[in-house]
Amino acid sequence: MNDIKVVIDAGHGGTDPGAVANGVQEKDLTLKISQYMYERFLETGIPTTLIRSTDETVSPSERVRRILAAYGNNPNVIVISNHINSTSSEIGPEGAEVIYALRNNSTLAQNILDELGNAGQKTRNIYQRRSDTDPSKDYYFIHRNTGVTQPVIIEYGFINNPNDLRRIQENYRDFVDGVIKAVLRTFEVENPSDKIVYTVKPGDTLWSIAQSYQTTVDAIKLLNNLTSDMILVGQELNIPEGLVQRPTHVISYVVRPGDTLWNISQRFGTTVRDIQELNNWFQDFIIVGQILLVPTSEINYVVMPGDTLWSIAQVYHTTVDAIKNLNQLSSDLIMVGQVLKII
Ligand SMILES: [Zn+2]
Repeated sequence: MNDIKVVIDAGHGGTDPGAVANGVQEKDLTLKISQYMYERFLETGIPTTLIRSTDETVSPSERVRRILAAYGNNPNVIVISNHINSTSSEIGPEGAEVIYALRNNSTLAQNILDELGNAGQKTRNIYQRRSDTDPSKDYYFIHRNTGVTQPVIIEYGFINNPNDLRRIQENYRDFVDGVIKAVLRTFEVENPSDKIVYTVKPGDTLWSIAQSYQTTVDAIKLLNNLTSDMILVGQELNIPEGLVQRPTHVISYVVRPGDTLWNISQRFGTTVRDIQELNNWFQDFIIVGQILLVPTSEINYVVMPGDTLWSIAQVYHTTVDAIKNLNQLSSDLIMVGQVLKII
């Protein structure tokens, strides 16, 4: 499986600090770890989403909603939930743990633990945990309520053990690099160090280069630390070849009142820049009634309260029958939280 997508969950946040010891709050460490992990994953070209990027309160149900909304309810979605452990005793033990879901095998969890060890952290074990009240289900909601995705909880060490805490604070980048190595190895994703180097030729634009390598302008800019779209003839660019999912459809979208380029780009899983380039339209505004070409890949839509098949079909310029066919629905009944393939 090399078409994986990654969702990074920074544990806790906002009014939920998680474990607190030695003057440190778990939520702050998990955010730092997750932000660095997000940047590093983007460099590999793997589509990656960060569930929270600020000190924000996110309820379990909202967390699950964001996880499933990112890339849909698919087994190729890898969910990495970052945590710091603690015990009720004054000084905790040392070492990392990885917890995986009842529906998954242990390979990813074991590889992550091994790489954390290679990166210099002490390691304890990997395990699954069953619910006390219903042992057929997972104990943790991040495993239990996340459909068929592949979630792991990583406990990097114990916040109430000063040695563990110091190692995490000093070496969390190495630990994250180890986690990424483990993910790449588990799913046999091409190592980003094998990426190809392209020398810019006269007439090239970032857009044309992205097109020919089936990647995106944003992915190239990120990989090369470009702050603008300007490139120079002779300049060497790293190309995240073959790892970025390319939109497979272009649809004609008629602009409606209230639409913005940003809203449309989010709805169809693309970027403002890519819509602008495709339409040769470099204004920030759009006009009601204007027809825009919008690049999009398959969309996984999570049903919200009040949605009907008809209202969803309207939004995506498709038909009720098309959605029913694609999802093999025998009736018009849909349920909040259900994930529907669109287009
Ligand atoms: Zn936690």
